[in-house]
Amino acid sequence: NGAFLYGDEMKEKVRQENHIKAKLMEAFENDGFFMVYQPQIDAKTKKVNGYEALVRMKEQGIYPGQFIPVAERSGWIWRIGRITTELAIKQLAAWRDEGHELHPVSVNFSSNQLNDHGYIDFVQDVLDRYKVPAHFLEIEITEGLFLEKSALADEIFKRFKSMGIRLLMDDFGTGYSSLGYLTYIPVDVIKLDKSLVDTYLVDGKDSFIRNIIHLMHDLGKEMIIEGVEEKWQFERLQEFGADTIQGYYFSKPIPAADAIVFKVKE
Ligand code: C2E
Ligand code: CA
Ligand code: CA
Repeated sequence: NGAFLYGDEMKEKVRQENHIKAKLMEAFENDGFFMVYQPQIDAKTKKVNGYEALVRMKEQGIYPGQFIPVAERSGWIWRIGRITTELAIKQLAAWRDEGHELHPVSVNFSSNQLNDHGYIDFVQDVLDRYKVPAHFLEIEITEGLFLEKSALADEIFKRFKSMGIRLLMDDFGTGYSSLGYLTYIPVDVIKLDKSLVDTYLVDGKDSFIRNIIHLMHDLGKEMIIEGVEEKWQFERLQEFGADTIQGYYFSKPIPAADAIVFKVKE
């Protein structure tokens, strides 16, 4: 029995994976992706100071948590990387042309995108084409990639920096326990992961979060706190000197037209 059950589960997994693969293929051919933008809020002024661009499929019912891992496994993530980067830059240009004041937009860079050797030239090319200054684009890179210490990764980070593109470390606190590397990696902003906020921003444990914020400031890094859902969390983080807050308490990721006029309600 057990063997049968296991077999069925495996079959279902394979079926689901193939289904998503097929939908991804369709989406690549038919302009099947769009971006939503989650406002990032300055903790002191409560004004928007940036956005994270997050990809969605136009096909209903398939979420990033499902299709991003499939794209990673099938070697297609580089295509998503290019599509999302171009959509975000295009959006910056559109906002500018509509007369809006711009704030930086960050896009996610997956570790498997390291194999996309043409990516940096592509970014430069798209920035030039839309005449968007490089400092409005930021790249979110997960902790693991910074620690890889490969020549390829170093080269990519150097080139981003020389273009004037800031690097953000995504999901800080989910992977590694050593903090020593923070002194030498070329990262400007640290994004504290929601799981740490959930675990430690509670009575009796929250000095840990305060200490991380102070440590990062001592190292000259800015801190974005992710996954803030409650008012009391925001207030506590404000007290601790956090720079920027990103979370449902202020806003979910929203369409571009709403994001650009988003304001925190007083
Ligand atoms: P991530 O890069 O850590 O993105 C943050 C995720 O947390 C987003 O989910 C966002 O909607 C969610 N989030 C933000 N604030 C809150 C909050 O207060 N509470 C809760 N519960 N969630 C919050 P999303 O958009 O579903 O994306 C999930 C993951 O999929 C992302 O995690 C990222 O790893 C990946 N992803 C999304 N868009 C892209 C993309 O364009 N490129 C790549 N490579 N990966 C992407
Ligand atoms: Ca991210
Ligand atoms: Ca994150």
